[in-house]
Parts: sequence; C-alpha cells; structure tokens
Amino acid sequence: MADLDRVRKWADALIRLHLDASVWSFGFDNAKTRAGLCNFTDRHISVSKYLAARYEDDEIHQVLLHEIAHALAGPRAGHGALWKRTADELGYDGKRTHDGSAANELAPWVGACPGGHAHHRFRKPLKPLSCGVCGRGFSRVNLIVWTKRNVS
Ligand SMILES: [Zn+2]
Ligand SMILES: [Zn+2]
Repeated sequence: MADLDRVRKWADALIRLHLDASVWSFGFDNAKTRAGLCNFTDRHISVSKYLAARYEDDEIHQVLLHEIAHALAGPRAGHGALWKRTADELGYDGKRTHDGSAANELAPWVGACPGGHAHHRFRKPLKPLSCGVCGRGFSRVNLIVWTKRNVS
C-alpha cells in the first residue's frame, strides 16, 4: 500500500515536470467512488486518500499520470484521442480505468448471479435483487447471492 507522503511527493514532482506549478496544486480528498480527479476550475489534482492507501505504488502512480494527462489535454479532451496520446506519452499504461470503477473495490458487499456476473454494493440490499445483465426486470432465476468481505 502506498504511503500518502510519498504519493504527495510524486504528485508535486509530476506537476513541476509537466504543468505550471504556480497554478496547479495537489491534494487528497475523501472520495470513495473514484480514485483521482482533475479539477480544471481550481487547477487542482486530487486523489482519494482511501484508495491511495489501498493501492500499490505502481497503481497510484498510474492514477496520477491519468489525472496529469487530463490537466495537459484540457477539459474538452475527455478520454478521447488527445487525452489518450498525452497519457501514452506520460507512460500511462491504461490497463484499467481509474474513473468510477474504483468504487467497486471499496464496496463490502459482493454479489454473484447464476450467470457469474459480479455486483457491488456498499450496503446489503434490503430486498432480493436479480441480475440486470442476465435479464430485465426481477426474476428469481437470476437472483443475486450476496457475500460480505472485509474492506480495509
Ligand atoms: Zn479520467
Ligand atoms: Zn448475470
């Protein structure tokens, strides 16, 4: 797991290297549903302290590169060709998306349907749920079975 002081040092170094350090800054935030954020209005890059603490060094470095690429490519680029090219040049491997999917890693309830699709919830669902990938609407045939795991 990554050490937050070290993450901050990398972030500051990356900002100095690639961006204008007099306008861009870095900080940690409390997000649980995504790993990193690039705020173009405040020129601020932030990383979830929860996810930073969970991720391996390599992984959090990739999150930083993902966000630095956003800062360089600009708000209109989205995850389009310009952003991809910029991220590539920075050394972002793009093996996984760092927007949103991170939430699943922190969700303690993991469900599986008979078809093997994975589902994630932060709270145990109060009523039976069936898999929306296997079929529309509720069906006992596609019932999701939930198990709780320990998420540190
Ligand atoms: Zn992104
Ligand atoms: Zn399914």
